[in-house]
Amino acid sequence: MPLTPEQQAEIAALRAETRPTFRPVAPGIERRLHEAVPVLDHGFVRVVDYMGDDAAIVQAARVSYGRGTRAVSSDEALIRYLMRHAHTTPFEMCEVKFHVKLPVFVARQWIRHRTASVNEYSARYSVLDREFYIPAPEHLAAQSTTNNQGRGAALTGEEAERVLRWLREDAMRAYDHYEAMIATDGQQGLARELARMNLPANVYTQWYWKVNLHNLLHFLRLRIDPHAQWEIRAYAGVIASIVRDWVPIAWRAFEDYRLNAVTLSAQAVEVLRRRLRGNGWPSRTAE
Ligand SMILES: Cc1cc2nc3c(=O)[nH]c(=O)nc-3n(C[C@H](O)[C@H](O)[C@H](O)COP(=O)(O)OP(=O)(O)OC[C@H]3O[C@@H](n4cnc5c(N)ncnc54)[C@H](O)[C@@H]3O)c2cc1C
Repeated sequence: MPLTPEQQAEIAALRAETRPTFRPVAPGIERRLHEAVPVLDHGFVRVVDYMGDDAAIVQAARVSYGRGTRAVSSDEALIRYLMRHAHTTPFEMCEVKFHVKLPVFVARQWIRHRTASVNEYSARYSVLDREFYIPAPEHLAAQSTTNNQGRGAALTGEEAERVLRWLREDAMRAYDHYEAMIATDGQQGLARELARMNLPANVYTQWYWKVNLHNLLHFLRLRIDPHAQWEIRAYAGVIASIVRDWVPIAWRAFEDYRLNAVTLSAQAVEVLRRRLRGNGWPSRTAE
């Protein structure tokens, strides 16, 4: 169970109470507020708070007093125009705050995204839980032979069993020693800030991560990509589904103009032009 009883009680209390508000409400993300979505074996992502919606992007772009009387289709056209032409600041008007539980080695990759606000669980102040990421057998993959930064087919047979056993045993042994070092029964007890260095990188940590929509879309573009490590992609996939519910128009524009779009080098454009000319297609550089 990834959530502690205290966290479950906090979520139940938050979801039990509703309040009327003058703030814009985005129904898609409102439904998902506080709900912890499981990721990996002990992790989760949950939305703690958010600000703004598709209309907030339009409102900022028009520097208007509100939604006015414009039809949704025209709002959509404006959002698509902004995304297409990289007019990014209106997307910064939307913000979201997540509570994430994730292994430390995933956190190391995640924290490289500097344009967010982070507050992490303090392993100097508190004791870390005995929770370690152990990959499911299908994700226990061999080193890729074609990509130094990637993985190949899943390990099989005795090797897979041995690796899984070592991962579990080493983590448990390290945690046993961690607990023994910080214990104060009959000894001074090592400081928690020092004892934690004995724990492996698959131990779980938690943080609050607050980011605006522009920087979040940048994060997702990099971390949904198949070149990113599978474990961080698992988190990015959950966050992507939340963003799709939160700002559906901006998400569609993002998919069309960023996520599924391609950038061509000058050389590639030239090759394409030649090919198209050869096939009798019209060219922008008229002969
Ligand atoms: C597939 C993959 C492999 C990677 N491999 C490695 C690796 O082997 N080693 C490694 O060290 N990292 C690696 N990274 C991390 C990568 O180099 C970036 O640090 C990370 O993706 C964050 O991207 P970012 O800087 O654009 O994001 P953010 O920090 O969120 O910044 C967003 C944007 O703000 C601007 N910005 C922010 N801070 C500055 C600054 N100080 N100066 C100038 N502009 C700034 C830039 O335009 C930047 O794109 C990898 C990332 C991916 C996705």
